[in-house]
Amino acid sequence: MIQDYVQLVERISKATGKEEDEINRLVEAKRAKLSGLISREGAAQIVASELGINFDKAKVKINEIMQGMKKINIVGKIIRMFPVRSYETENRKGKIGSFILADETGNIRTVLWDTNHIELIEKGEIKEGDMVEITNSNFRNTELHLTGFSDIKKSQEKIENVKTEQEFFERKISELKVGGSFKIRAVIVQIFEPRFFEVCPECGKKVINDVDGSKCSEHGKVIPKKRSLLSLVLDDGTENIRAVLFSEQIQNLNLKEEDLEGEDFLKKREELLGKELFFSGNVRQNKLFNNMEFFISGIGEIDIDKLIEVLEK
Ligand SMILES: [Zn+2]
Repeated sequence: MIQDYVQLVERISKATGKEEDEINRLVEAKRAKLSGLISREGAAQIVASELGINFDKAKVKINEIMQGMKKINIVGKIIRMFPVRSYETENRKGKIGSFILADETGNIRTVLWDTNHIELIEKGEIKEGDMVEITNSNFRNTELHLTGFSDIKKSQEKIENVKTEQEFFERKISELKVGGSFKIRAVIVQIFEPRFFEVCPECGKKVINDVDGSKCSEHGKVIPKKRSLLSLVLDDGTENIRAVLFSEQIQNLNLKEEDLEGEDFLKKREELLGKELFFSGNVRQNKLFNNMEFFISGIGEIDIDKLIEVLEK
């Protein structure tokens, strides 16, 4: 997809009737908005897409999809099909179909609203494992959406090694939405006292303790495994969010089980406060406090060299 920048601007200009200078300004504004973390060519592609230009039905790869893109054409493999759901609001009722679409660069949750498309799923004409070609879809939040103007059909193309690991979208905290999978770069501004609980070693469910010892509702009497839970507040300058992490991820903060109690914890807490890291995870609604919570499933160091490399591209 990488094209010569000058050539791209020419094509956008021709297609829209806008002056090349104006397009250059739009591209620079787009790059500034994305903190320069994108090439001029990449920014030009986004500008083109926002202006509604479709370059000869060019197809994009999943990792090229950016906020604001419309009329997206893409080929991918359905790696997971979800059951069709019905919905009803005050004004509308209908069905929603969804699946995870993958190519060699990533995967994305894809949502279908059109009854004709949903029928293809219900009849089994489009199913898990199929390669499909989608045209004229839109990117919304973190998902690909197909409306009545979109099209989906089986494709003969083949993609080796589709990416099946969950995708996390890099976002600012102020942009996080419940239900999404995100990666944020944030500073730990608060760490609460760890909490401990016991779970069944078989299924991970919380055990019930009584006079007979520990019991799992499914596995009966068990020797429970100890689990810890740590709550943090993360801040990236746009907003802050409460975050939760469990044993495995606590270890990724360089905290050992024995560090979580007493004096050791206070010392470790001092070291961690103010630290900036990448956190990936899912956003859920905390029903009790009615706020959003970030469930951390991955932690990564910020590699300054890598960031510079991206900026220079
Ligand atoms: Zn169990």
